[in-house]
Amino acid sequence: MCQKTIKKTIQCSGIGLHKGRKVRLVLRPAAEDTGIVFALHGEDGVRFHRPSADAVVETTMATTLGFGGQRLATVEHLLAAVRGLEIDNLYVEVEGDEVPIMDGSSASFIFLLRAAGFRRQNKPRRLLTLKQPIDFQQDGKWIKARPSRRLTVDYTINFNHPMVGIQKFYVECNPESFTRHVAKARTFGFMREVEYLRRNGLALGGSLDNAVVLDEYGVINPEGLRYPDEFVRHKVLDFIGDLFVLGMPMTGDFEVYCSGHALNNAFVRYIMEHQADYLEVDVCGEVPVPAEVVLPSLSDVPIVSKAWN
Ligand code: ZN
Repeated sequence: MCQKTIKKTIQCSGIGLHKGRKVRLVLRPAAEDTGIVFALHGEDGVRFHRPSADAVVETTMATTLGFGGQRLATVEHLLAAVRGLEIDNLYVEVEGDEVPIMDGSSASFIFLLRAAGFRRQNKPRRLLTLKQPIDFQQDGKWIKARPSRRLTVDYTINFNHPMVGIQKFYVECNPESFTRHVAKARTFGFMREVEYLRRNGLALGGSLDNAVVLDEYGVINPEGLRYPDEFVRHKVLDFIGDLFVLGMPMTGDFEVYCSGHALNNAFVRYIMEHQADYLEVDVCGEVPVPAEVVLPSLSDVPIVSKAWN
């Protein structure tokens, strides 16, 4: 199977969840072996950054990447869409310090990427595969992973709330299943948390247009839910996005219990720290290469002028 990028540059704008400010997102095609590269606007022009487990600097409410003085919040729903559509190479340019929240799901990003169209490239895909099973547990929550050429997620949540309770969802992730069963699931929060966050100057861009909000009894959004089990499906979406902070698609059969951004990132950091034990790069269509994981170097990424419009 060959690598994939998008056919043409496409953009959108929206507001950031944390600060409520307008931000612009531009998605651009990238050459083979580029991987996912963030192009962030700063005072001295555009700087390029490759995501990584270590680049995650904050996991409260959303996953935030930090590169020196530059930060980019709420990357997970966009990364989930890119991973869900099996795009290997992409420039993600952002003017602002958050990815726009859009409707709180991956649906808008799926729409944008599909509108851009896809281009098959010549080199084979490179997947991070597991060499051995791993059980990663913290405080009664866990991520268990088994080696597989596919990405499957079997997720369970357990919230003490009449509308949520115990929910389970299983998906074998591919562009069709991700788009149909996962992409539209919105982020959710509880009314009591919203009040606390607002008092502390957070979630200023949050509204019923980009989140499912629950009071003590049920969902207060007038339109209700998009799926009866939208909550667990969104957790699956977050998990797929949080695994993809490596910028290279990981495969495996994952069983996840009550995880969140913090545990997802602790897991990814742990296996990268012990990558010689746990990971290998599998080149699709070729004999698997039993080598240490080497993520593509940023020096291979062409520097694009800041004159992007
Ligand atoms: Zn989310």
